[in-house]
Amino acid sequence: MSASTLLRRTALYATRPSLSRTIAGPQFSQRLASTLAIFEQRDGKLAPSAQNVVTAAKQLGNPVVGFVAGKSAKEVAEQAANIEGVDKVVYVANEAYEKGLPESYAPLVAENAADDVTHIISMHSAFGKNVMPRLAALLDVQQISDVVSIESPDTFVRPIYAGNAISTVQSRDTKKLITIRGTAFGNSPAGGAAAEVVEGKDSKHEGNMEWVREDLAVSDRPDLDTASKVVSGGRGLKDKENFDKIMIPLADAMGAAIGASRAAVDSGFADNSLQVGQTGKVVAPELYLSVGISGAIQHLAGMKDSKVIAAINKDADAPIFQVADVGLVADLFKAVPELTEKLKK
Ligand SMILES: Cc1cc2nc3c(=O)[nH]c(=O)nc-3n(C[C@H](O)[C@H](O)[C@H](O)COP(=O)(O)OP(=O)(O)OC[C@H]3O[C@@H](n4cnc5c(N)ncnc54)[C@H](O)[C@@H]3O)c2cc1C
Repeated sequence: MSASTLLRRTALYATRPSLSRTIAGPQFSQRLASTLAIFEQRDGKLAPSAQNVVTAAKQLGNPVVGFVAGKSAKEVAEQAANIEGVDKVVYVANEAYEKGLPESYAPLVAENAADDVTHIISMHSAFGKNVMPRLAALLDVQQISDVVSIESPDTFVRPIYAGNAISTVQSRDTKKLITIRGTAFGNSPAGGAAAEVVEGKDSKHEGNMEWVREDLAVSDRPDLDTASKVVSGGRGLKDKENFDKIMIPLADAMGAAIGASRAAVDSGFADNSLQVGQTGKVVAPELYLSVGISGAIQHLAGMKDSKVIAAINKDADAPIFQVADVGLVADLFKAVPELTEKLKK
């Protein structure tokens, strides 16, 4: 399937009316049913993705019960209680769950997923991809991954083959386990609400894994996952020295996050955490500017939902121009420094 077919399908999908209006009515609500929304946290701070999870959870039509575990889970639960659409938050304050290791976290969620829980929902993040399959196995149900649209409480839309096709799936499981693509669901506002916060059950689950350490890339720039502007560099930059010399000033002038193609990451121009695409991050900023990136289908899978796509490439036939709203056929080593200077002014 060509990239243009892919885009046409995406465009059709994007212009569909909001589903929340059509499904949130009482016709889908079941008595005593509820949705368990699993929130992520780090060092006592609720992850912003909780707001996307709540948006999706609300579309299922039942009361939304948040769930969080970790050392400072009570404080995190109080933050989550402020999100509009959350009816209750259950927390388990125990340091053993701080890092979300699936071997202990999955049985904990299963223990707290009361009989009335019809849906369990989380982000399609590293955490969700880690915990949810194990939870699905424990509950003996089928996981529905990377959902981009909720058609009804049992029918979900998800991309397959790196976004080359869109599949609609229906589940008959009594508990439906869903991971969502955050960029497909807006942020449920936080601030005005005050949901009930209650302590959950904890049978002190122990896994056979031990958290050893994490190496985090620290940056003052906007976070690639949530930035409204992203500038991404590819193999066309030739080496790491050029990548830093060209892309960092451009990102600073635009207030943008930096991304990279897999070729750029594999060649050592940029950190792994900056990879955009099928095997990297999926982003959908207001503006995505690609520099020296050809536009392979695996790269498009990670950025094609961006609101405006701009591309600079010296090859007029590069596939990236098929998806770009704005394109510049030029030598990046000349065009980008000029653009950066103009942006600074
Ligand atoms: C299973 C699988 C998963 C993958 N996952 C990902 C993924 O997650 N993300 C990803 O990005 N890729 C992924 N890939 C790799 C993907 O297929 C491409 O190889 C990769 O995206 C190419 O990166 P690139 O565009 O930087 O390099 P290239 O394809 O080599 O393109 C470089 C571009 O730079 C342009 N250029 C060169 N010099 C200049 C200049 N001076 N001025 C302007 N333009 C210039 C060239 O015209 C060319 O279009 C995956 C591949 C596989 C098989």
